[in-house]
Amino acid sequence: TQTLLEVKGLKTEFKRDGSSVLAVAGVDFHINKGEVLGLVGESGCGKSVTSLSIMRLLKDTPGRISGGSVSFEGKDLVQMSEKEMRRYRGNELAMIFQEPMTSLNPVLRIGKQLEESIMLHLSYSRKKARQHAIDSLKLVGIPRADEVVDDYPHQLSGGMRQRVMIAMAMSCNPKLLIADEPTTALDVTIQAQILDLMNRLKTEQEMGMLLITHDLGVVAEMCDRVVVMYAGRVVEEATVEELFENPQHPYTKGLISSVPKLRQKVRRLESIPGNVPDLRNMPKGCKFAPRCPYVMEQCLSQEPELLPVAHDEQRKSRCWLTQEGHSKGGETA
Ligand code: SF4
Ligand code: MG
Repeated sequence: TQTLLEVKGLKTEFKRDGSSVLAVAGVDFHINKGEVLGLVGESGCGKSVTSLSIMRLLKDTPGRISGGSVSFEGKDLVQMSEKEMRRYRGNELAMIFQEPMTSLNPVLRIGKQLEESIMLHLSYSRKKARQHAIDSLKLVGIPRADEVVDDYPHQLSGGMRQRVMIAMAMSCNPKLLIADEPTTALDVTIQAQILDLMNRLKTEQEMGMLLITHDLGVVAEMCDRVVVMYAGRVVEEATVEELFENPQHPYTKGLISSVPKLRQKVRRLESIPGNVPDLRNMPKGCKFAPRCPYVMEQCLSQEPELLPVAHDEQRKSRCWLTQEGHSKGGETA
């Protein structure tokens, strides 16, 4: 396996009312070629800010990257000029959002928008770009693609618009697709179709994918590995099977306690009592301590690091309970 993307110590800071908070507080993970990495956690945990930081799309927000690196095939995206970054965006890296209406231009025909993007990124002629636009619409299963290409976004259903967004993202054959809650706004049937489609495209195009979701059903269906975020930090990393069968971090345990089997249909992350901590007023030690059923003295004063779980280098958790030494050390709750 080859590493496609490596995020190291990523920090993103937001200025609010004169003070600054870390929405992403030193995040580490990697994505291999042809792999789907799930990024899960409750809303406000920093998932979306992480993805916007990778894409360097923070400029419409009060946020800025304040540390770390994002290495894409060995090149650090954080250090790139905006001009260079523009060449990567939409070309090597593409992103789809939850609500396609906000990313499609309402006054431009679908085909026109696809063509512009294709001409910009693949340097095709207008004629060749139009054919490629129609082919891209067909690829994502849009019926009568040669007619839809001349429609305006409002003429399509939500599911069709999301397909257009995927077509647009896929039309330049990106090596990495970042999908932020790509199916949340859609009804269950359409959602299943879109996920099937993304799965198929991933396999056919050997693309890496960062899938951001709070839906564990989507994680189970789509992901190879999973990174769990809490309060701007990674708290657990595991393969999808291990995550569901043997979660390590108490937060992850809480998330999946209502999902007894991998492919069963119970799935929102609302089951853990308490709230995500206020970024301006973070607990001193472990950020999950106020909600953790296993909290110990030590947790209140010292924050654990994200470290391999005993005897397994691939498995990581940010919890005193799962870290080597603790169980041997004999400290008890
Ligand atoms: Fe709970 Fe302590 Fe582990 Fe934090 S470090 S998750 S408070 S047991
Ligand atoms: Mg979000």
